[in-house]
Amino acid sequence: MNILVINCGSSSLKFQLINSETEQCIAKGLCERIGIEGSMITYAPEGGEKEKTVTPMPDHTEAIRLVLEALTNPKTGVVKSLDEIGAVGHRMVHGGEKFAGSTILTEEVMATVEECNDLAPLHNPANIIGVNACKKLMPNTPMVGVFDTAFHQTMPEEAYMYGLPYEYYEKYKIRRYGFHGTSHSYVSKKAAEILGKNYEDLKIIVCHLGNGASISAVKNGKCVDTSMGLTPLEGLIMGTRSGDIDPAIIEFIAHKENKSIDEVMSVLNKKSGVLGLSNNLSSDFRDLEAGMNEGNEHAIRTMKTYCYRVAKYIGSYVAAMNGVDVICFTAGVGENAPVVRSMVAEYLGYLGVAIDDEANHKRGEDIAISTPDSKTTVMVIPTNEELAIARETVRLVK
Ligand code: AMP
Repeated sequence: MNILVINCGSSSLKFQLINSETEQCIAKGLCERIGIEGSMITYAPEGGEKEKTVTPMPDHTEAIRLVLEALTNPKTGVVKSLDEIGAVGHRMVHGGEKFAGSTILTEEVMATVEECNDLAPLHNPANIIGVNACKKLMPNTPMVGVFDTAFHQTMPEEAYMYGLPYEYYEKYKIRRYGFHGTSHSYVSKKAAEILGKNYEDLKIIVCHLGNGASISAVKNGKCVDTSMGLTPLEGLIMGTRSGDIDPAIIEFIAHKENKSIDEVMSVLNKKSGVLGLSNNLSSDFRDLEAGMNEGNEHAIRTMKTYCYRVAKYIGSYVAAMNGVDVICFTAGVGENAPVVRSMVAEYLGYLGVAIDDEANHKRGEDIAISTPDSKTTVMVIPTNEELAIARETVRLVK
């Protein structure tokens, strides 16, 4: 069965068509600047030429119409008609406490998803628009929602509650939810599979280090803690997001810089993280690594602080699980920056971690980068959220 995987943002939409039997991506692409002047669609059939077309996309329905047109195009398309698309899997950001797993997106379910909009005002409405646009154009095709928060719903109360008045939890459901769940689930399962061990017998820490970054503790096949919170701002230092800070800093900056809460939040989301810490050198680790190699003090400080934070979280999750068997690195930075992995590993001597330098410099494969006698196994596992969404979609519609 062919599954169309859609990841819909407020002005962009990523898509992949995946054959569920071979688990291969048949075509993929991206719509950008939806609702903004200069919108364009990029489309690439597997093994074929990538084509970019600048074309008006006033709304998401038009963007999805163009995606479906590209997939069925007689020359460059990969299917003859929409009948060859068995189901659509949608990446949904916030399922609140309502969704502990993926679900078929019926009218009733969509109303419940809408109830979670307050928790992710930037992401959830865009996800809903994407689902509705698809439903309009493919009314008879089943739609499945796969939530970024679902995998973390197994966290115990002591891991998800904040030290705030309990009434805020009761009234507003303020608690830790966590994100990147599809990736944490995929990578931790894949680690067990590669090691030939039972998922339910392992203690795994997954470091999803991308532009957004989060870390999770997976014990006996269940997530027991994760670093992102009510929103994706908490936890690790990210590309442009601050991660953990003293909450009183918000008021302090607001007073000193004469900014509103919204303006300070925008600084924490868009101007902080490694971008801010490096004195605006870059949010991209390729630039930071180059800067570090040239002896740039801003790059050196940023890399050290970033890796220290990752190592500190690993330590806290070793405590939460009373040990760890496997530590996995994934996502843009985790998969492609050996220097970050080795700088983090320098803190892990107490876990008996020994890194194989040659393996650490390999790229693009599932691989153990620790030596065979390392007490804890360290792995790099490229994440594949689209495939995980396609698998979930097939599981639900079959
Ligand atoms: P993601 O959000 O998972 O797509 O990750 C994107 C981030 O990965 C970029 O902002 C870069 O910081 C990082 N990245 C991508 N390629 C490399 C690379 N070759 N070396 C170091 N960092 C990389």
